[in-house]
Amino acid sequence: MPEIKVKNTLGRRLETFRPENPPQVSMYVCGPTVYDYTHIGHARTYVVFDAIKRYLSLKGFDVFHIQNITDIDDKIIDRAKAESRDWHDIVEEYTRDYMEQIEKLGIHVDLHPRVTHHINEIIEFIQGLIDKGHAYVAPSGSVYFSVDTYDDYGALSGRISKELWGQEEEFISEKKSPYDFALWKSRKPGEPYWNSPWGPGRPGWHIECSVMSTRYTGESLDIHGGGSDLIFPHHENERAQSETFLGKRPWVKYWLHTGMLLVSGEKMSKSLGNIIPLKEALGKWGPHVLRLWLLSAYYRSPLDYTETGLEQAQRLHERLVHSYQVSLRRVEKLEPSYYLDTKDIATLKRILDIRREWDRELSNDFNFGAAMRWLWELTGVYYKEVEHSESNALLALYLSSIEDMNSVYYFMEEAAARGPIGLENQLIDLIVEVRKELRKKKMYDLADHIRRVLGEMGIKLMDKGEETEWVKD
Ligand code: AMP
Ligand code: ZN
Repeated sequence: MPEIKVKNTLGRRLETFRPENPPQVSMYVCGPTVYDYTHIGHARTYVVFDAIKRYLSLKGFDVFHIQNITDIDDKIIDRAKAESRDWHDIVEEYTRDYMEQIEKLGIHVDLHPRVTHHINEIIEFIQGLIDKGHAYVAPSGSVYFSVDTYDDYGALSGRISKELWGQEEEFISEKKSPYDFALWKSRKPGEPYWNSPWGPGRPGWHIECSVMSTRYTGESLDIHGGGSDLIFPHHENERAQSETFLGKRPWVKYWLHTGMLLVSGEKMSKSLGNIIPLKEALGKWGPHVLRLWLLSAYYRSPLDYTETGLEQAQRLHERLVHSYQVSLRRVEKLEPSYYLDTKDIATLKRILDIRREWDRELSNDFNFGAAMRWLWELTGVYYKEVEHSESNALLALYLSSIEDMNSVYYFMEEAAARGPIGLENQLIDLIVEVRKELRKKKMYDLADHIRRVLGEMGIKLMDKGEETEWVKD
């Protein structure tokens, strides 16, 4: 079994994956700021971490997956003002969209902490930083983190020189250093606020993730994830806050960052106006094809949005589901294997090799993209060697290999993967058999009618000469 290697953004080296308390793994991913629809760029990051969780589960780890919801932020307030709406409405509308869409993508996050539910904890954390001398209160009632009190600032992002530490320009005059950043922002007229020891205000952006992750995972976080757009300043600031507050280094064992989803070379983002809403993409491609495509590149590399890429994923999806469903029905009808001929032995070994290679790619910093080649290879072996084999052993191995792969990529429903069962299966077989007779008698109108009606029921027939195979969508 290959050891799992992980590339850590901090240090940019491959390290052996050793969580603090195996088999438990804590994983915190920066989730959405809920002021607009979830788009497929977000989906890339969410699907990657979901697939990492699924792979780690396959390897026997027990992953606790947290993904926060930023439900108070400048962008939310600006949107509420622009649309003359209550900011709570904006938050509820887009939180619902996010929750619905990730559910359709088969992503099951264990906990979705929301910032506004943790204001007391945020205040306590900031007070702790002030008490330890890492933060100060400005005359306006805002509180800033004093970057000069943390000696490893810039290491995560590789921005070693202070000139590269630009933070938000707002209120620069009241900061001790221009690169200090806000932990607490004093109230502005007409904006939401909470009371605090420093007066009314609201949390700055970065503090929420330090507070909510330590609340739920303790002093050590195994995996901290998010898109590469968050490395600076968000994660750099989180690291400074948490390591000074906890007096512990490292706070995070492995920093993992996804490459951006691009459209014509530009980041897909709301502000650039080039987004494809996840809901729309799900309607067009369905969750499984979309997932295969989102996992078709190394997670740290950028991924370009192209229809060709998605069509490729669709072809692979068809091969996987078709070969799986057909094998499943055949295996039930075959006698157990008591003997394998030389050719079958070679095919069996080939499938085992493919599984091993697939695993090796995934254990090498979760390289779903490189590993996908082995899904193509596996279906290739199916169409060449397994499809017409009478060997129960071969088909069973093929099925379990597809199931393992599906447990990570999730390219078909686990429950529905097996298609209709029992009596339903037999009835479809019978109808297909009757249709075969009709075709032999050249009664094509009726045969086509059967195909159409079954198609409407989600059962797709594929004629191959006189024989017909069927799959259920
Ligand atoms: P946001 O709502 O913009 O804060 O983003 C939520 C999560 O999605 C963060 O982890 C971001 O890094 C990630 N994200 C946003 N845009 C993209 C993109 N175009 N490609 C990949 N990840 C993204
Ligand atoms: Zn965060």
